[in-house]
Amino acid sequence: MTDITLAPIQPDQPSHLMATYGRQAISFVRGRGAYLYTEDGTEYLDALTGIAVCGLGHAHPVIAEAIAEQAATLVHTSNLFEIPWQTAAAQKLAEVSGMEEIFFSNSGAESNEGAIKIARKFGTQQGVRLPKIIVAEQSFHGRTLATLSATGNKKVQDGFAPLTNDFIRVPFGDVEAIQEAALQHPDIVAILIEPIQGEGGINTAPQGFSYLEEVRNICNQHNWLMMLDEIQTGNGRTGKYFAYQHTNIVPDVLTTAKGLGNGFPVGAVMTQGKAVGLLGPGSHGSTYGGTVLGSRVVYTVIDTIQKENAVENAAVVGRYIVDQLRIQLADKNVQVRGFGMMIGIQLPKDCAELVAIARDQHKLIINVTAGSVVRLLPPINMTQAQADDLLERLVALINNYL
Ligand SMILES: *Cc1c(COP(=O)(O)O)cnc(C)c1O
Repeated sequence: MTDITLAPIQPDQPSHLMATYGRQAISFVRGRGAYLYTEDGTEYLDALTGIAVCGLGHAHPVIAEAIAEQAATLVHTSNLFEIPWQTAAAQKLAEVSGMEEIFFSNSGAESNEGAIKIARKFGTQQGVRLPKIIVAEQSFHGRTLATLSATGNKKVQDGFAPLTNDFIRVPFGDVEAIQEAALQHPDIVAILIEPIQGEGGINTAPQGFSYLEEVRNICNQHNWLMMLDEIQTGNGRTGKYFAYQHTNIVPDVLTTAKGLGNGFPVGAVMTQGKAVGLLGPGSHGSTYGGTVLGSRVVYTVIDTIQKENAVENAAVVGRYIVDQLRIQLADKNVQVRGFGMMIGIQLPKDCAELVAIARDQHKLIINVTAGSVVRLLPPINMTQAQADDLLERLVALINNYL
């Protein structure tokens, strides 16, 4: 064990960190399942899980053991060599996603970069010189130059011109706007959307998941790639392994990250059908993509999600939380929406201050997105008793506030 002890952070002491985050003045030193602990042992219920990342909860013993054992054996050799854990992880991911080919990356944005490259390659092969991709308003796809260009949030793009000009934006859920765009732009080759918009405020399309079926039909009609960003909605979050599995369709390209490593930085871009084989030798790569250690984590996370029936749990316990919130907040002017363990409570006013109130007065970690939406992303393996604990803290919070 290390004998280094870190000095506590002094708020008035200059930090060398680039000021890219608005941080809360609290740090956690330990976690277990759905709970986080500060140095003095204070316990917090975590309904955010590192922004939909630690789906199996903190310090899961099986994942922790796999990391420790692999770290003490072999961490990285590079993609110049065969990596049996990477092959095994791909096999597992193909099994749960229904996709054929998998490329491992290290983050969500990188996975979407892969998808965008696949779309461009697909278009180029058909003689489209400058291929275009349809994206949605209020979307979030990452902060690299291509993915921030795809993102439907001006704040993310502000100051970073020139943006890549291959994206055509339509309102989320608006099928006619897609058909309209098809008429205007013969060079469209793909659509990239989130099944449920996470950062945008836990939004499903007005027509629900049938939007995905409509988009699938349009993609078939025009020979476009249907690309789904399941970076947040994947890995059991919505009560299916991937959110598109709430429907009967399969996308051509699927991206994921967040819950895929339970906190270990990994991501994936996956293809099936006509998207298979577009990226061949030399056309894409990543030094860290699918390391021995990262791949073993992916394998172990999927295996653990399966063995714990965590996806089914997310559906059942998530449904319970949504139902209870609707009942217990019935006299409040709120709208509760979401699937599985991806839940948004739309308040009638901006409520960013609720994050601090929840933390300090109810020892509850939540997030507020899109100004007025309380976002809950609890562990997908949360127990019924923990869900009751969450409801008690949350209902008290919102009752006191409204
Ligand atoms: C978080 C997120 C991303 C970006 O992932 P990073 O790992 O932060 O690059 C992209 N798309 C969606 C839908 C996300 O929720």
